[in-house]
Amino acid sequence: MIARLGISERRNEDGLAAHILNGNAIRDQIYGELRDKIAALAAAGIRPGLAAVLVGDDPASTIYVKNKIAACGKLGLASFHVTPPATVTTAELLAIVNDLNCRDEVDGILVQLPLPAQVDSKKILEAVDPSKDVDGFHPLNVGRLVSGRPELVACTPAGVMEILKRSDIPIEGANAAVLGRSDIVGKPMALLLIHANATVTVCHSKTRELKATTARADIVVAAMGRAGMVTPDYIRPGATVIDVGINRITDAAQAEKFFANFPERLAEFRAKGTALVGDVHPDVASVAGALTPVPGGVGPLTIAMLMSNTVKAARLRRGARAPTVATSQS
Ligand code: NAP
Repeated sequence: MIARLGISERRNEDGLAAHILNGNAIRDQIYGELRDKIAALAAAGIRPGLAAVLVGDDPASTIYVKNKIAACGKLGLASFHVTPPATVTTAELLAIVNDLNCRDEVDGILVQLPLPAQVDSKKILEAVDPSKDVDGFHPLNVGRLVSGRPELVACTPAGVMEILKRSDIPIEGANAAVLGRSDIVGKPMALLLIHANATVTVCHSKTRELKATTARADIVVAAMGRAGMVTPDYIRPGATVIDVGINRITDAAQAEKFFANFPERLAEFRAKGTALVGDVHPDVASVAGALTPVPGGVGPLTIAMLMSNTVKAARLRRGARAPTVATSQS
């Protein structure tokens, strides 16, 4: 398995080793496949286009949207950027979404979350044309996923499935624990694993005996937004651990504890005064069989699946005009 794309080995002092699942390498493989599909569409005169709606100037959201637009540029997709002010009303945002629904050159619409408190987020997400819903949040696309006929699936859980499959992690018959039950990550993640024939336990903030549940799992997907909460004692030796969490730490004492066994990362923290960490403590590398790092694990796949969904939406929406390209994973 180690020789497979995107996998390296991290050996610790005890001689135990987790395979580090490299999200950047898997993303690049997916981009390579997408380029063939995009070229075939271009030959038919079709250039898939993604519209990003960024409300206000929240720094994290601004960076996420910038990275998504940059990925479009890298792959030769058209991109459109709409930036209403933070004071936008639900009615004004609905008008923007309706305009994008009507524009033929727009194949995918993403409304960057979270939206300001005065905006009815569910109403906005339900207004996106389901055939352009590249985030997979519209109830129709959620329903398709529930019924086992997925078309446009939420990007982060779809990306996790790509990591598992392309790293040859056995899913069928595996016990999987999903930590978190959000509409964006936890629920679609659980559905994808169920459809891949895993036996899935979904955990949340009211779950009793969380540790006992995860310690039985062959696959643990952590998506809680709780920095480093999953420590080695949560993990069965050899299990696969997928860290979806993205948390910024700035507290020096917390960083000292977090990176006690990772001097390079501690030095980086000391230089910058901040670090991005997951929900999984880095020491889990001493127990897990395979582990996604933060950063560089699930994050790159989320953007890759957004690009993949945009190309898919263009092909589905433009029907017979769009050629098909055979690849191993479509
Ligand atoms: P969310 O909507 O806040 O949901 C968090 C979930 O975790 C909830 O279901 C919550 O339970 C559960 N939870 C919180 N504390 C818990 C605890 N102590 N024990 C057990 N369960 C607990 O968050 P989200 O949008 O799903 O995102 C989760 C994390 O993933 C965040 O760090 C986010 O930044 C990250 N994320 C990363 C990517 C990526 O591309 N890598 C994409 C999306 C999100 P309740 O339901 O009971 O409240």
